Amino acid sequence: MRKKIVAGNWKMNTTVPEGIALAKAVAEKAAQTPEKVDLIVAAPFTHLALLAPVLEGSKVQLSAQNCADHTSGAYTGEVSVDMLKSTGCTWTILGHSERRQYYGETDEKLVEKTRLALEAGLDVILCVGENLSEREAGEHFHVVTDQISSVLFHFSAEQMKHIVVAYEPVWAIGTGKTATAQQAEEIHACIREVLGSHFGLQVAEDTTILYGGSCKPSNAAELFAQKDIDGGLIGGASLKADDFIAIAMAWQSV
Ligand code: PEP
Repeated sequence: MRKKIVAGNWKMNTTVPEGIALAKAVAEKAAQTPEKVDLIVAAPFTHLALLAPVLEGSKVQLSAQNCADHTSGAYTGEVSVDMLKSTGCTWTILGHSERRQYYGETDEKLVEKTRLALEAGLDVILCVGENLSEREAGEHFHVVTDQISSVLFHFSAEQMKHIVVAYEPVWAIGTGKTATAQQAEEIHACIREVLGSHFGLQVAEDTTILYGGSCKPSNAAELFAQKDIDGGLIGGASLKADDFIAIAMAWQSV
């Protein structure tokens, strides 16, 4: 059975004290959420070492939002996978569309970052998704297939056990426009098929695929009810503990 996950991406939000307060609130409420759902919060680098003890003993796991594509050395401003690991975090998001769009993150860089993260013992949430013009041109299946194969086909079936895919249509991120459950499901099914064609049916069946893009308490249950949607990567709504927990609670009715 593949894992059900609700992960919060805080992006560049919250000061350290605000982040600690938010993590405390999430950790406290996490115990109410269905047992089958894993919870993750992806906080800014500055917060990680301080959040690890706050989340310890709760079901909430800690993630970074990015990592360096080198192990150490003269890379001013970068944060290595070993540094992340030493904070107590166990995950990193990679390839978020904001990093692809604003920081020139290429699939080649993502192969390297994913490799380093896995070698350091971090699990990875790899984000993929088409932008509005690609969707309007009907290229969404092609774009997502290409992103998946360009990065994930460099890894083994064994390594895939430590990789979660997040499908995030760029036009739905932070815009209030959610993909319909059907639009999301057809891409999730396509991702599973692409994984199956390369890794075989078992890996395809076992890989958790999250939906991200204006997911909120009011639409989470419909999205999570889809056969190939295994949870959500939540941006804006993860900044309020009650909303984040309400999204996780949507699994109760599914
Ligand atoms: C995200 O950035 O990963 C995201 C899904 O954002 P939002 O939920 O705010 O659309």
